[in-house]
Amino acid sequence: MSDRFALVALPLPLATPYTYRIPETEGDRVVPGARVVVPVRRRELIGVVVDADTAPPSAAAKDILAVPDAEPALSPALLATAEWISGYYAAPLGLTLKSILPGGMWGESRVIISRRNGAQDMGGVAGQLLTWLQGRAGRATVSAASRALKRPLWDVIGRLMRVDAVTLDVEPPDTRAAGLTERVLVLSPQRPTLIERDALFKRRPKQRQLYETLEALGGSAPVRHLSEQLGFGDGVVKKLVQEGLASLDRSEVLRDPFAGSPASPPPAQLTPDQRSALDAINTIGPEGGALLFGVTGSGKTLVYLEAVRQVLSTGRGAIVLVPEIGLTPQTVSRFRGLFGDQIAVLHSGLSDGERADAWRLLRRGDRRVAVGARSAVFAPVADLGIIVIDEEHEASYKNGETPRYHTRDVAAVRARLEGARLVLGSATPSLETMVRTETSLKLLRLPVRIGARPLPPVEILDLRVVPKVTGTGPVPWSEALEAGVVAGLAKGEQTLLLLNRRGYAAFLHCPDCGEVWQCPHCSISLTVHQAPAGLRCHYCGHEEPLPFSCRTCANPVQQMRGVGTQQLEQMLRDRYPDARITRMDLDTTSTKWSHQRILASVESGDVDILIGTQMIAKGLDFPNVTLVGVIDADTGLYLPDFRSAERTFQLLAQVAGRAGRGRKGGRVLVQTRHPGHHALVFARDHDTEAFLRQERQIREEPPYPPATSLVNLLISGPDEGKVGRRAAQVADWCSALVQRYALPIGVLGPAPCPLVRIKDRWRWHVLLRGPSRSLGRIVRYGARRLRREGTTRIVIDRDPVSLL
Ligand code: ADP
Ligand code: ZN
Repeated sequence: MSDRFALVALPLPLATPYTYRIPETEGDRVVPGARVVVPVRRRELIGVVVDADTAPPSAAAKDILAVPDAEPALSPALLATAEWISGYYAAPLGLTLKSILPGGMWGESRVIISRRNGAQDMGGVAGQLLTWLQGRAGRATVSAASRALKRPLWDVIGRLMRVDAVTLDVEPPDTRAAGLTERVLVLSPQRPTLIERDALFKRRPKQRQLYETLEALGGSAPVRHLSEQLGFGDGVVKKLVQEGLASLDRSEVLRDPFAGSPASPPPAQLTPDQRSALDAINTIGPEGGALLFGVTGSGKTLVYLEAVRQVLSTGRGAIVLVPEIGLTPQTVSRFRGLFGDQIAVLHSGLSDGERADAWRLLRRGDRRVAVGARSAVFAPVADLGIIVIDEEHEASYKNGETPRYHTRDVAAVRARLEGARLVLGSATPSLETMVRTETSLKLLRLPVRIGARPLPPVEILDLRVVPKVTGTGPVPWSEALEAGVVAGLAKGEQTLLLLNRRGYAAFLHCPDCGEVWQCPHCSISLTVHQAPAGLRCHYCGHEEPLPFSCRTCANPVQQMRGVGTQQLEQMLRDRYPDARITRMDLDTTSTKWSHQRILASVESGDVDILIGTQMIAKGLDFPNVTLVGVIDADTGLYLPDFRSAERTFQLLAQVAGRAGRGRKGGRVLVQTRHPGHHALVFARDHDTEAFLRQERQIREEPPYPPATSLVNLLISGPDEGKVGRRAAQVADWCSALVQRYALPIGVLGPAPCPLVRIKDRWRWHVLLRGPSRSLGRIVRYGARRLRREGTTRIVIDRDPVSLL
């Protein structure tokens, strides 16, 4: 036995890693970043070595059981990134690593033991194990073997490995089961024209939907994908085959659904602005980064593409981050068009096994570019040369659970560790990032749209005074918006209508006694839904039937307030019966790839009016969209959160950016009751920098980021009294610490959160305000001291993006 010990982080909420003895036979492979199989109580778990040369523990240490990979799973830079996250955000290192390595690489007891050819039979338990394996075609999981032989086997396995009688592998749970071929539905080469389709698919909308989905997916898709993820039944598939419109084929398992999507070739020539931005990016040193601040439609994607291409040509790899992969099919397809097989697209549709596959391909350097959302910042790209973050202002870059990292900050740390460039891009940069252009980031501007197309004129419609159309029910519908929509329909142009409130109506209330229907589990009103009808909670999913009368005063008349997307859709269908109208919100995009389906139908011209929540504001490039209407700009304006003005500005500017991208031009109509609010005024003027200047002033006093830094301590639990008392203790503890060390930190609260109850848990918070370095000290102490007590939990959220 060796006398070397390793620290191993386990994917559990443990404050510190555990120490294990390194077996002599495995000495060379136990290095930082390597996966190891270790015993934890009565289980075997996979952990990651964080230190291969640590002091012996005081008590006896257990042995590392196996080291499954020839190469460590995590590079030194990724491991160091994980350590930074764990320290900065006060998250256990094991949990941090858990969010970095794909789920398929953590399998519990998914350790496979294989008998080697030519292994000699022998006596004792070892012999029994070999014989048992023989009966199982030579392979089985260690846990199955332990069960069969009714004893722990690690000592025996260790011996057998030393004489080369068996090998150990750790397999992600589902790569083994997946077959090598599967049924694929392929469209026949003769494609009916649009007119023929109307006849062909008359009264068979489901078949048409399937047909057009296949088209959107590039002409073929695995049947499993069509049924499991898109909800097409066997019957529809069969019909399409019987009609001769498609055929069934077998092919190698298509693991990446994006692999079948059309790949668009990039334009040939950079504009002078794009060229100078690219040149500047190429001079970024290993410590630096840049913000590509380009108006909507200015061609930022092409700059990213070229920057990545140049990095690849020097033999290094790239990571490209987008806010949400389902919403950005165009960006993905542009990258695929240029880099084809060198890309691994990491998206939420991947199974654990597929994710683990992608991880290995990247780690080995078989794929050079990783494209994905938030967690792709951890992609194990070999020799990383650049990280691009598109739409860097998006809130989805902040992780909502432990570790509560911000992708932008993690990317900056990783880029520094890897000597890679960092390129952030946005038309509406976050205030934090804009401020950083005064120090660490280069500011690169793309001030005009491609083809010198003007930004669309934005007209603010004050709902309190503008003439409104009668007969539109409670939908705020001005004559100006009506005229715009009608004109668009007449000319065959497309309209986007933004309403950032899903459902039919925001809430139901009794006009007599004022009763508002609230969720029994959350401090939030229930949203009215139609089709299927009911009251629903958007936080916990609670549902109840629509009531016939008030539960308090029995008044039979109940009023709906706050128009939602469903109601808007119904009004539009009544008003424009011939228009092709589609709605895109969480309710219509619950199945996988439904985003792509909707966006593909807009792209192919099958939609006249697209209604949607903020989903429709992102990154879309549809040249035939000439009108963007914002039904109610005020939905998020006065939320009790210091970022609500910034959010509203970004949403308006982004959705306005969808208009006028083609030769026909376009315009934007914004309905509001607060026409003087700076978020609206500067959105109208397309003046992001002026907005940010004013916003920066507002956040000086009282100070909010970037004038200061914040830590939000969120205390929650099912017992209201306990939560309040614990919150008071937490605030006292913080104040005492601040006094003892004379830290320049303000302690605000305790106070109930604006959303004081979610899913039956009461929520209070304590807000700490001050310089980041001092907050770091509190966070470090707090991670050890502020433990959960029974059911009362404490979450430390450093640099929170939302205080709700
Ligand atoms: P952004 O991301 O800045 O909003 P995009 O990258 O989507 O803008 O570009 C807008 C449109 O301009 C796209 O259709 C793109 O193909 C086109 N485009 C970009 N660069 C060029 C160029 N150099 N020449 C011609 N067209 C371009
Ligand atoms: Zn609820």
